Amino acid sequence: MQAAEGKGAGRFAPSPSGDLHIGNVRTGMLAYLWARGSGRRFLWRDEDLDRVRAGAAERQLAEFRALGVRIDGAPVAQSARTAGYADACARLEEAGLVYECFCSRRDILAAPSAPHAPPGAYPGTCRDLDEGQRAQARERLRSQGRSPALRLRTDGGERTVGDEVRGEVTARLDDLVLRRGDGVWAYNLAVVVDDGEMGIDQVVRGDDLASSAPRQAHLAELLGLPVPQYAHVPLVLGPTGQRLAKRDGAVTLAQLAGTGFDLWAWMGESLGFGPWTGLDDALAGFDPARMVREPVVFDPDANACGAHARSAMTSR
Ligand code: GLU
Repeated sequence: MQAAEGKGAGRFAPSPSGDLHIGNVRTGMLAYLWARGSGRRFLWRDEDLDRVRAGAAERQLAEFRALGVRIDGAPVAQSARTAGYADACARLEEAGLVYECFCSRRDILAAPSAPHAPPGAYPGTCRDLDEGQRAQARERLRSQGRSPALRLRTDGGERTVGDEVRGEVTARLDDLVLRRGDGVWAYNLAVVVDDGEMGIDQVVRGDDLASSAPRQAHLAELLGLPVPQYAHVPLVLGPTGQRLAKRDGAVTLAQLAGTGFDLWAWMGESLGFGPWTGLDDALAGFDPARMVREPVVFDPDANACGAHARSAMTSR
């Protein structure tokens, strides 16, 4: 494990569920430029607790290395770190902040939500069950071959964190899942424990995760871990205006190879810096303050016939 000493660190933490598309590559590259541009180390983490496709983690890292990215230390795999998540959860439990949740997804959707709760927030059904009710619910789940999830007890208050791109991000805290009913450690807990223990003090990632940041900051504080600096960067959208996805067409580096698509030129232009020629040029030209803050559209069809990157890109 990378020690949390010395200068700070940024990171890229992709889920190895398949090949990265160029929107993910752009986000990871921004994390790299942000880290190096601020004199930080750059760490790599495979978020492989869930949805793993064989060989994807290796291919994702190989693509970044082929682009010239240098990783500090060995890549870290979450699947090798479950003891740390269990330990963090036990500490929260000792502090009286963990409870068993017996709800199915359907139960949660059907329950009336608390006033001011964000959409999809847990309605609190299992928060205050007594021991007898819990024993009964455990038995009911066991007879269905299920186990309870573990949730964090929060007061539902609002929390704001600073964000280098958005200024600040505010979200209402909710009783997030720490361990799922199938025994898998939940994303929020794993990210917070890992970022803290890896000495990561700068989190650059897609802005679809912005609303998780206040919850993660809260969890970090409960665990006595420092809250990192956040930068939630705009996403690349597909032609329909939804975030870019594999179903939009040729969007991975492997699919785009040989089409004349110039990744560096596209990345630089789409971020408002003009076409980059490679990593050194990107490092020299990157300035977070001048970065385009709006999402950009990538249309694989416009690119398929070898058109210049510019025609595949429209600012929104
Ligand atoms: N593993 C997450 C993803 O691939 C990113 C998590 C994070 O950066 O906090 O979307």
